[in-house]
Amino acid sequence: MYEVVVVGGGPVGACLGALLARGAGGARPLPVAVLEPQPPAAPAADAPLEARVVALSRASERLLAAAGAWSAMAGARVCPYERMRIWHEGIAPDSDGVLTFDAAEVGEPNLGYIVENRLLQAALLAALVQAGGHVERAALTGLQIGAAGVTVRTTAGELSARLVVGADGARSALREHAGLGADTRGYGQTAIVATVATARPHRSTAWQRFMRDGTLAFLPLADGSCSIVWSADEALAARLAALEPAAFAAELDRASDLALGATRLVSARASFPLTRLAARHYVAERVALVGDAAHVVHPLAGQGVNLGLLDAAALAQQVGEGVARGEDPGALAVLRAYERWRKSEVALMSTAIDAFDSLLAHGAGPVAQLARRGLGWVNRAPELQRLFIRRALGVSGELPRAAR
Ligand SMILES: Cc1cc2nc3c(=O)[nH]c(=O)nc-3n(C[C@H](O)[C@H](O)[C@H](O)COP(=O)(O)OP(=O)(O)OC[C@H]3O[C@@H](n4cnc5c(N)ncnc54)[C@H](O)[C@@H]3O)c2cc1C
Repeated sequence: MYEVVVVGGGPVGACLGALLARGAGGARPLPVAVLEPQPPAAPAADAPLEARVVALSRASERLLAAAGAWSAMAGARVCPYERMRIWHEGIAPDSDGVLTFDAAEVGEPNLGYIVENRLLQAALLAALVQAGGHVERAALTGLQIGAAGVTVRTTAGELSARLVVGADGARSALREHAGLGADTRGYGQTAIVATVATARPHRSTAWQRFMRDGTLAFLPLADGSCSIVWSADEALAARLAALEPAAFAAELDRASDLALGATRLVSARASFPLTRLAARHYVAERVALVGDAAHVVHPLAGQGVNLGLLDAAALAQQVGEGVARGEDPGALAVLRAYERWRKSEVALMSTAIDAFDSLLAHGAGPVAQLARRGLGWVNRAPELQRLFIRRALGVSGELPRAAR
């Protein structure tokens, strides 16, 4: 019998498993299994960089170190970014009104790192195994919750545990089986992701332009190219996805206002329809949800994985402390403390992200005008600028110990 079975070995589930298996939550190392039907291999050192990347905050870097995964990831494929430049289509990309955050302003070497999804997931699964955790190559098929434990049915047989955690993404089967429910709302937008070469160097900077019909980000990659995330209204996204590569690059040049010079596609394009999701409950007796299984936010602020990793650390801490007090890790009292902590932090962040989307990318009228001008004003208010930089670093709010 395991103490904890985690359903889903994406970045969040793998991180939770590794933290628990190492005893990083504050308790002894716990017997843990992670169910993952498709565990990826780490990309080969000389393989081209993949288009699906995430921006990791300083808090996430610390968590990954606590989980034993950071040292295997940090290297030639990971790109630190030192600055962010954010502007609205109403102004030129080199004007003074561009909101600029510079790590040097707060004495930090960088604001975070751009990392391939696959590298992140593979490093965390390897750290889990190294810490004595087990990866079960199987999918969840059913669940039976009893007084003393939970039986997890999988495509490879049954596992029993005292706590089962759903880290199985936005379409979480565990959330459905446990009847935790979720509210969802489509944004009416699709994100197009691709790797592009740019005529001018990215200068270790993340670039983001807000437009009336969406948001365009250029994330700097270690080989000098950029990963773009272009969140566009559905009709525009469908048209962009259907264009020939050269015609797409011409549209991209228009949308970026040539902030990085002319662009050229160097990967295929992938499309992700964007939906907001909030689970009604994060926990029930012997069940908890983390990561996208609990909440999905708009990618414009690059916060999805960062929020999920904080869920993993908060839950590992509550479970670890509960076990150290001699409590059952699946007891509702232990899990409720996790839910109260993370649900309010996530609600704050998703409301802020949606305000950015509706005011800066889609808004009209006086309030939206004010918000757009506000981007430039923040530049002239050093205190406010430092506050935003701390938010970007992920080091504000109530942090789990492993992220401090
Ligand atoms: C275009 C785009 C750009 C993004 N950019 C960023 C960014 O810059 N920064 C950031 O922090 N976030 C970003 N995100 C969000 C981020 O990708 C997600 O928040 C993150 O992948 C969630 O991780 P997870 O481990 O919770 O879920 P997932 O990554 O969805 O992993 C779920 C895992 O569960 C497994 N699974 C599914 N069903 C079952 C089952 N029945 N049984 C067992 N296992 C199962 C799957 O195989 C998968 O491995 C972006 C998202 C999009 C769409």
